[in-house]
Amino acid sequence: MRTRIILLGSTGSIGNSALEVVRRYPDRFEIVGLAACSNVEALKRQCAEFRPRCAAIVDETLAREATARALDVEKLYRGPEGAQALVEEEADIVLAAMVGAAGLSPVLAAIRSGKRVALANKEPLVSAGALIMSEARRMGVPVLPVDSEHSAIFQCIEGQRSEDIHQIHLTASGGPFYKRDRASMNGISPDEAASHPTWDMGRKISVDSATLMNKGLEIIEAMWLFDAALEKIGVVIHPQSIVHSLVEFTDGGILAHLGPTDMKFPIQYALTWPERVRAPMARLDLTSMPALTFAKPDFSEFPCLRLAMEAARRGGGAPAILNAANETAVEAFCEGRLPFLQISEVVEAALDQVESPNEITFDTIMEADAAGRRFARAFIDQAGVRV
Ligand code: MG
Repeated sequence: MRTRIILLGSTGSIGNSALEVVRRYPDRFEIVGLAACSNVEALKRQCAEFRPRCAAIVDETLAREATARALDVEKLYRGPEGAQALVEEEADIVLAAMVGAAGLSPVLAAIRSGKRVALANKEPLVSAGALIMSEARRMGVPVLPVDSEHSAIFQCIEGQRSEDIHQIHLTASGGPFYKRDRASMNGISPDEAASHPTWDMGRKISVDSATLMNKGLEIIEAMWLFDAALEKIGVVIHPQSIVHSLVEFTDGGILAHLGPTDMKFPIQYALTWPERVRAPMARLDLTSMPALTFAKPDFSEFPCLRLAMEAARRGGGAPAILNAANETAVEAFCEGRLPFLQISEVVEAALDQVESPNEITFDTIMEADAAGRRFARAFIDQAGVRV
């Protein structure tokens, strides 16, 4: 029996890597559904090659123009609800690799339909981790991390008792601007921010890596995935990105996960879990790799990390507001409407001024998300004058 996969965000960076993995094991994997936001041409090519039964186009305007016949699929779903409908189709696993909190509804729908979820899309966990994890427990389905650090932690703690974990050490490369002083970061362009020193990734996550918001989001992601308190998660600077994270146990032992900087490794592990399959990717050569260094982080120039930890400490709707403001600010930065250093200002103002709901339900999280975006847009419209 082949593993039937629904892939959300198939034309993005993770989506393409996932299809490379699938392409290598035709006896093992079968693509039954593909969803893309707006790159219809790429989706068309993917449908021709992988022959899924269904597809979804999330962008409403583009979706309206497209036909199932043009994509050569039996069923074509359209619009934001399209991805949600797609995950209801029969499959074994949903790989969620779309960008942003827009992934929340499809991820919840996948869990509620009893499918295991491989999560590359961290924003839904940041915004609504409590909901996602409680639904996953209720349905008895595993949530498998694809983020490299979390895949590493997941592999280090397999077979261990949670009470034996002393500390989780998330590694951070520091992004392209670590060690640069704040004044020199003022005129950073979207292209500069998107060029990560060790990982080749999509634009949103690359900008998040440059502000270190990505590490902040990953702390919150780890809290939910591994049911860990904020105090149990630390960050260590490891510029080589070869150790993908470490777990320190109560007896002082530390387990680390090492691997090349290639997202196909964590993607493949999430798809084959609990098994491992021989991978054709280039392996780590222990004797020819660079010296591994670990340093205490100095985050004084990177307020986004501090803000994410503050949101985690506050809990409730605060992480959803943080995430919504950050998504809005990063989009504005990529469109040249907001200077790099003001991304954190938008997030900080939203976190301070948008009211967080007391009760956490799907609706209150969606409201907090919408309020965070509204606030950020208004703030940017004012701040934009200063660009
Ligand atoms: Mg990561």
